[in-house]
Amino acid sequence: MPEGHVIHRLADAVTDTFADRSVAVSSPQGRFDVSSLVGVPIERGEAVGKHLFIDFADGQVVHIHLGLIGKFGFVPHAEPWGEVRLRITDGVTDADLRGPQWCRIITTPEKDAVVAASGPDPLRPDADPDRGYARVRRSGKSIAALLMDQKVAAGVGNIFRAEVLFRHRIDPTTPGREIDQRTWRVLWDDLVDLMSYAKVHGRIDTVRDEHSPEAQGRPARVDRHGGEVYVYRRADLPCHVCGTPVRSSTLEGRNLYWCPKCQRRKSAPRA
Ligand SMILES: [Zn+2]
Repeated sequence: MPEGHVIHRLADAVTDTFADRSVAVSSPQGRFDVSSLVGVPIERGEAVGKHLFIDFADGQVVHIHLGLIGKFGFVPHAEPWGEVRLRITDGVTDADLRGPQWCRIITTPEKDAVVAASGPDPLRPDADPDRGYARVRRSGKSIAALLMDQKVAAGVGNIFRAEVLFRHRIDPTTPGREIDQRTWRVLWDDLVDLMSYAKVHGRIDTVRDEHSPEAQGRPARVDRHGGEVYVYRRADLPCHVCGTPVRSSTLEGRNLYWCPKCQRRKSAPRA
């Protein structure tokens, strides 16, 4: 499942490519009724967490959730192939949606309700991290599980949660109620930075300069996610900081990665 920065990149691409232009909307696969959208200009794309919205000028909104296997890609205009649920094209660029968890037309008030019900999203300027902390501080669940809760931090997925906990040396099993507010803000502010970088660059890099391949004289990572990371998908490989083998286990159905030596704290070190 893509992390939130991917959805925000797609939202921006919708705006940059199609806003206020003449576009054609269709469902080549025929499974999505787009008749009410014909001839209506697109105003912009917007994202909250893993929800993608396409605002049309008359107040209709296409609400997309990619789920585990959905894809929404921008390609040079060509005949559609395969199962395209939704195509938006200006005759030059096609945006094709395949295999989403859902794709539906909603109203602007319905969209506002989805945004209001979402947890704070580190990539949105209107995000209130205290709303996330209100859930963290009264929970007995681990901070690793809580960071994956879209009501706590919308858009954060498996990579960012593992990496942000490593970067601040937090034991991932620490219960939310033992995470103090300062530590939560340190984690949050770092998520804002890491996710903003990923949004701009289209890859996730979490390794500080002193632990980069160049600084450490090690080969660069090869992974379809791109980018240099400390622990994600590095089970049994030596920690870039201390050399201890990175550990992994399954938590609520997802793999969790951490360094058992570096991550023993319940509070972030003071800068
Ligand atoms: Zn370590």
